Amino acid sequence: MSDVIDFTKRGAIGVITVNSPPVNALSAAVRDGLGEAFDKGQADPDIKAMVLLGGGRTFIAGADIREFGKPPQGKPFAEVLGGMENSSKIIVAAIHGTALGGGLETALCCHYRFAVPSALVGLPEVKLGLLPGAGGTQRLPRLVGVEKALDLVTSGDFVPAPQAKELGIINEVGDDLLEGAVAFAEKLVAEDAPLRKIRDLPCEAEAGVFEAYRKANARKFRGFLAPWKNIDCVEAAATLPFDEGIARERELFTECVTSPESAAQRHVFFAEREVAKIPDVPKDTPMKEIKKVAMIGAGTMGGGIAMNFANVGIPVQMLEVSQEALDKGLGIIQRNYQNTVSKGRLSQEKMDQRMAMFSTTTDYADIADADLVIEAVFENMEVKKEVFAKLDSVMKPGAILASNTSTLDIDEIASATKRPESVIGMHFFSPANVMRLLEVVRGKESSAETIATAMGMGRKVGKISVLVGNCFGFVGNRMLHGYTGEGTFLLETGALPQQVDKAIYDFGLAMGPFAMGDMAGLDIGWSVRKAKAADRPSNEEYGGTIPDRICELGRYGQKTGGGYYDYKEGDRTPIPNAEVQAIIEQVSKEKNIERTDYDDEEIIKRALYPLINIGAQILDEGMAMRPSDIDIIYINGYGFPAYKGGPMHWADSIGLENVLADLQRFHAAYGERWRPAPLLEKLVAEGKSFADYQAA
Ligand code: NAD
Repeated sequence: MSDVIDFTKRGAIGVITVNSPPVNALSAAVRDGLGEAFDKGQADPDIKAMVLLGGGRTFIAGADIREFGKPPQGKPFAEVLGGMENSSKIIVAAIHGTALGGGLETALCCHYRFAVPSALVGLPEVKLGLLPGAGGTQRLPRLVGVEKALDLVTSGDFVPAPQAKELGIINEVGDDLLEGAVAFAEKLVAEDAPLRKIRDLPCEAEAGVFEAYRKANARKFRGFLAPWKNIDCVEAAATLPFDEGIARERELFTECVTSPESAAQRHVFFAEREVAKIPDVPKDTPMKEIKKVAMIGAGTMGGGIAMNFANVGIPVQMLEVSQEALDKGLGIIQRNYQNTVSKGRLSQEKMDQRMAMFSTTTDYADIADADLVIEAVFENMEVKKEVFAKLDSVMKPGAILASNTSTLDIDEIASATKRPESVIGMHFFSPANVMRLLEVVRGKESSAETIATAMGMGRKVGKISVLVGNCFGFVGNRMLHGYTGEGTFLLETGALPQQVDKAIYDFGLAMGPFAMGDMAGLDIGWSVRKAKAADRPSNEEYGGTIPDRICELGRYGQKTGGGYYDYKEGDRTPIPNAEVQAIIEQVSKEKNIERTDYDDEEIIKRALYPLINIGAQILDEGMAMRPSDIDIIYINGYGFPAYKGGPMHWADSIGLENVLADLQRFHAAYGERWRPAPLLEKLVAEGKSFADYQAA
């Protein structure tokens, strides 16, 4: 028998166990071994039925994604599955852990499925820009109906075993995996149960169901390829004979697997796993146990950040300058939860439990025993230093002191304490209870334990933690600055806001820079520009002329009924404004700029290549550990489309030499802000891409 497949007999039941740690992925060796094992069971006259299970912690968890894109080896998966389904003896899948993707497809080619209650099943291929290519889209709808199947294949959601039983995916749920499955198989033999082949079940759909589904999800699936192809497959299941449906699924699988969207999504999948690795903070670095959190400031960010901890059952004490500020902050938190309850996404009981996690104080002595304190007071260095000096004087030794600053120097903040090793940045994004990104900002003296704990705490509250260096704007906002800045230069040189915003929306972001500015409020940037006016180097190109003039008219964005655009009362649809257009054209004239007619491609390059160029500078300075970390930041913090893989992967897909050629062209035309990053020039000279990049 093969090394990875074990075959034993339990009376008349053949037990086939996959032993290919860690997750029994469907490697060539596993496929070959399965083929042999079922042949063996088939040939043995004493065996009446077979049970297939996974050794170790899981059933066959899924395909072996390391084999993607490599030349095929071993027995084709479809052949193994065909052999199982056509076996003349009943095969029962015994599922524990996870049966995902190819794992569930294997189980669907068994005649019955037994699972322990904790098992999870699902077809998550869509998350990698793929579809289940081994019959999953043809068999699942025959079990659960097309509508449920559409939801499952387009979301990739995992279904717990008890719910999977209700849906008809699982036939029996029981506590003891091996004993339960063998007993179930024996019962089937005793009852002379039929060989239930899912392929023989009917698959029916009501007229119009697919069109309606496509329409209802058009926005959600915008730009992605795989959800649409998954829908096509389920439609094929309902409209074609089984074998033709399988052929269609194969065809569409090939389309997905060779698509740039899937390459990008697979890049993101691996990037999410890489992001936790920090070369000088090994995985086994001890993390501090966080049993109590203190939050300084209960404003927009403080409230949102605190909710994350309450949500996972960690008590949070909020500290503010006054009881009034505390009441206001807590009131907003309460309303936030209440909204979720009224939408039916949280039970009243859970809300009550979460609200019970909060306590408030105006006295620093009360928070002294917290294990982690996060400061989210006004963005002002003096105020922050004052807060950190107080924290230093009261907090217990070893407590982690974090700041949520978006721009300020973590080392300077740490200098207000005598324990800079315990100080770190934890830069949450707004709304902090929703946004998945957390930039953990490493100060020059932040200890390995402080870093490991901040990263781990982020993950514990459901964030994706990315370690970044201490520079102005850190990684995400520093890059954003280049993007929004170039947006106003684009206006000066010929574009209009609606044109830029449309190109960016069509590229895949949720909105363009001007709609975003109007939403966030233009007055914030205006006051920053005014404050910095005196220090601005005289040779620096100033991009603020247009937004300054718009603000001078009292047009601060949505909140004042207009900014770059007009807005009707209670409606966020941007409407182009003639006065704004006149300002833009006037500024071009004053600056002696001949306005150019841009196409969308040029707008995309102008607006988004600053992300690539600044990203390269950030890497060169060591402010991000790897290009894929930057991609994760941009996808999770700024809505860069996952199907383009983040700005750095996108750059690779364009070809760095092509990107560099455009940067050189822009540098010649628009000046210093476009100087190509040395790292980019180096990679191009060496014929490399960001994917080849290794930090020095
Ligand atoms: P905010 O004005 O909504 O809240 C600040 C709160 O801090 C106020 O409630 C204020 O009463 C309180 N406060 C001020 N001084 C204090 C002190 N000495 N002690 C205790 N409480 C004090 O501001 P915000 O938007 O929540 O921003 C807070 C921090 O988060 C800033 O550093 C900001 O740069 C950062 N940040 C903001 C965003 C965002 O989108 N708003 C995103 C990321 C980070």
